[in-house]
Amino acid sequence: MNFSHTTFLKHIAQTTGSPFLIDIERAEGVYLFGPDGKRYIDLISGIGVSNVGHSHPKIIEAIKAQAEKHLHVMVYGEYVQSSPNMLAEALVDLLPDNLNCCYFTNSGTEANEGALKLAKRYTGRTEIISFRGAYHGSTHGSLSVSGNEVKKAAFRPLLPDVRFLTFNDINSLEAISDKTACVIIEPIQGDAGVRIATQEFLEGLRNKCTETGALLIFDEIQSGIGRTGKMFAFEHYGIVPDILTSAKALGGGLPIGAFISSYEIMNSLTHDPMLGHITTFGGNPVCCASALATLEIIEEERLLSTVEEKGQLFETLLQHPRIKEIRRKGLLFAFEFEIAEEVAKIVSYCLEKGVICFWFLSCPNSFRIAPPLNISNKDIKYSCNIIIEAINTL
Ligand code: PMP
Repeated sequence: MNFSHTTFLKHIAQTTGSPFLIDIERAEGVYLFGPDGKRYIDLISGIGVSNVGHSHPKIIEAIKAQAEKHLHVMVYGEYVQSSPNMLAEALVDLLPDNLNCCYFTNSGTEANEGALKLAKRYTGRTEIISFRGAYHGSTHGSLSVSGNEVKKAAFRPLLPDVRFLTFNDINSLEAISDKTACVIIEPIQGDAGVRIATQEFLEGLRNKCTETGALLIFDEIQSGIGRTGKMFAFEHYGIVPDILTSAKALGGGLPIGAFISSYEIMNSLTHDPMLGHITTFGGNPVCCASALATLEIIEEERLLSTVEEKGQLFETLLQHPRIKEIRRKGLLFAFEFEIAEEVAKIVSYCLEKGVICFWFLSCPNSFRIAPPLNISNKDIKYSCNIIIEAINTL
């Protein structure tokens, strides 16, 4: 075993001056374990990934079974393989009729890159509209449509022809026109600190896109795969996008993303130019097997049916006068405090006590909770006691 912090800090590229820096040897369900046996309750699911818990036995079994058949055999889109086929069938079955064609990628940001390119190619337009506060990923295209100016400034020039509107401001939707290729939006903004779109706003947005021929892209990379109590958050609204992006929890712990649209729209990537979007590893058979097992677990274990009641239990137990606001949909939470330093203190106190919470990139005075959907009520109560203890130390 090599848990050398010197190796980690010197030979693994760093992204912050203050990484969490805890040693993890194994994980199971809602728990992570250090090499010294220290147990952590993972209240953030590795940032929205382990919705069915860590190392679910059915996922491990599916990965092993596929690994014994074959790993990568060919780049995306050439050979017929049963694992991506079965995943596509399962996803399409869960979705409205127009979302019937899946393009598998390796990550969330790639899913969004593909979606943006698809919209430009299909509409022949160039303008992309996004919203302040949005987070869509860290590659150039996704960064261009993300809202956090501090994170973007050093990397300009980014994509041209991108406009930002104000989330939940219906009047701002007037800016969408017949020049707009697409509008990309998280129905629930994650990184902005769980900002929930109103019904009226999403309805207005859908109508405006339909009216102008702009494609509507829902980024459900964080809000999908059961996180809010529905398989995808858009189901709460009864509003259907033209393109849906998914990743994170989709793979059950292996890397996979997808952009999903209608066959007609998606088919535009086959000509002018041919191979309009390509990837070596997209649709990797082992990742697809893991994703399929994830969807099956959510159904077989009826995980969606308890999301709301578990969410309410957290909310009831985490009442405290120091909390300024709780924003929640299902099991996706932001707890807002007066200042960022309070959040930092709470997160580090909880970590010390073996409960993992985390912050948001663009909302430093809130902390996040998004636990595995199958967290037990006992672990919820235990974790909430620790969090309240942490708040009491402020
Ligand atoms: N969109 C949203 C809403 C996200 O939350 C994230 C990741 N935090 C991404 C896109 C990017 O996904 P990835 O990190 O897999 O590239």
